[in-house]
Amino acid sequence: MHVDERTDKFFRLLSRPIIMQKIDIDCFFKKLQNHAKELKSKIYDARDFRKPVALDQQNIGRLTRADALQVQAMAVEVERRRYFELEQINRALKRIALDEYGQCLSCGEDIDLARLDIIPTTMTCIQCAEV
Ligand SMILES: [Zn+2]
Repeated sequence: MHVDERTDKFFRLLSRPIIMQKIDIDCFFKKLQNHAKELKSKIYDARDFRKPVALDQQNIGRLTRADALQVQAMAVEVERRRYFELEQINRALKRIALDEYGQCLSCGEDIDLARLDIIPTTMTCIQCAEV
């Protein structure tokens, strides 16, 4: 091959349209589903915290009832956050089903892949999130 032909081929390859970010939906789907599974099992494991705090604290050892109530309040807050996250995941899964995943809900542009990687449940691009 002549040198000029090679450079020509090289520049033709360079001038190909850059392939826009291709979101691996399956990968995000699995990631979201796994996270949901994890959250559900954590909620299940923590279910004992929902039991009313007993007046008789003998079997809790040195914890006072006030301590136990505070521990319970924190557990309730953790659970609330887990349910909130689950809800976010369900919304993201729905968007995958509707083929809308990865599009900004505000402006319709593609959400940056790096942003989705960090926050797979995000529904807005960085520009719209900052407004
Ligand atoms: Zn946007």
